[in-house]
Amino acid sequence: MDVGPGASTIEYVNTETFPQTTSTDVLIVGAGIIGLAHAALAADRGLTVTVIERDHRAVGASIRNFGHCCITAQSGELYELARNGRKHWLDFASRAGFWAREAGALVVARTATELAVLQELSGLREPGEIVLLTAAEIRARLGTASANASVAGGAWLRDDLRVDPRTTVAELAGWLSRQAGVTVRWNTSALGFDAGTSRKAAVRTSRGTIEADRVFVCVGHDVDYLFPDVAAEHGIRRCALQMAMAERPAGLDLEEAVLTATSMLRYDAFTEVPSAQALRDEVAATAPELLDIGANVMFTQRPDGTLLLGDSHAYDLTQDPFLAESTGERLLEEIRSVLDVEDLTVTQRWQGIYASSEKGPLLVRDVAPGVTAVSVTSGIGMTVSFGLAERNLAHDNRANHNRAALA
Ligand SMILES: Cc1cc2nc3c(=O)[nH]c(=O)nc-3n(C[C@H](O)[C@H](O)[C@H](O)COP(=O)(O)OP(=O)(O)OC[C@H]3O[C@@H](n4cnc5c(N)ncnc54)[C@H](O)[C@@H]3O)c2cc1C
Repeated sequence: MDVGPGASTIEYVNTETFPQTTSTDVLIVGAGIIGLAHAALAADRGLTVTVIERDHRAVGASIRNFGHCCITAQSGELYELARNGRKHWLDFASRAGFWAREAGALVVARTATELAVLQELSGLREPGEIVLLTAAEIRARLGTASANASVAGGAWLRDDLRVDPRTTVAELAGWLSRQAGVTVRWNTSALGFDAGTSRKAAVRTSRGTIEADRVFVCVGHDVDYLFPDVAAEHGIRRCALQMAMAERPAGLDLEEAVLTATSMLRYDAFTEVPSAQALRDEVAATAPELLDIGANVMFTQRPDGTLLLGDSHAYDLTQDPFLAESTGERLLEEIRSVLDVEDLTVTQRWQGIYASSEKGPLLVRDVAPGVTAVSVTSGIGMTVSFGLAERNLAHDNRANHNRAALA
């Protein structure tokens, strides 16, 4: 084939079919952040790990998001998982060498009702976890030179982290593949799950069969492709989000992720405080179109200065791939107003999809002996990935211990 100037050169890796059935302690299906978190923590326990990924590199939800580990705004079980995962994010960032910042998040309030939500939540948390800020302090952190009159104040969420979504999973997968006992196989799809030899599970793949003591199937929103009944029972739908990237506005240097009123309508810690209903009513009265598009107006700045801008939410079993320009424009208008800039130069737009369910924020379901399907069905997979993986592996440890005690 003639590869002319400008044409991309396609390089296939792992082109071989397995010579025979291969074996591993732990098999992970899916190299998004949920699969890789399970792989990394399993490898740390001294287990041999194989990761299979149907694509030539992961391009799912884990590279399409804000890279915001939104720890503080979670509640209950999810708050616990998010907090437990925090140390692992920092640990693997340092060992694998990917970019991560203990930057926290900034919530910009533009009305008294928004401020009330922040005050109420800060009163429920330990001192210092949620720091209330004046309008001048918010403006200073946003770097808006002008006196942005729409800002009423806000809060800094101390424990939130940031990573760069465009590079993190590739760097973590690359680092994992260089660790002893870990194999990452790209362009290898899981097709089916059977009983193997010696009480192992056998996973049929597009390149042959792999046997494993434990299998975690971490395929994000595509649970229904492999386990349609489980997906239907958990009510999994695909949530489609519109995102954009913009050039760095002159002089903008943002450490924190930035959230706004509509973010406070989406995360449980905010929605559980007394003023949350008043906030919903206020947004419904002043900007109903933001509710119509399921907006969570927020943004983060990547290490190269570009801004990740979003987002909207639409739910369906199968998603249309088409992006409504009016949705993208409405989100941009809101972000321009928060940043107090005339214009943002958009360089990319894309659709992200994650698994969603009204029945529960997490799917962790044994689907065959030794095989567990894991999917975060609440749009916070970056936030809870490592905490969830830690819990799933600890559960295995306890089960093994109990079996040994009974033997
Ligand atoms: C636009 C957007 C913004 C978001 N913002 C945030 C945020 O700021 N903070 C946060 O915490 N969360 C955020 N989320 C949610 C978060 O990105 C997801 O919850 C998380 O990435 C899900 O990770 P995953 O590994 O389950 O899925 P994915 O990243 O989609 O990975 C699943 C992988 O499985 C592979 N796969 C599927 N089927 C097979 C098969 N049969 N065999 C082999 N491989 C297979 C796929 O190719 C894919 O690479 C956002 C999501 C989107 C879309």
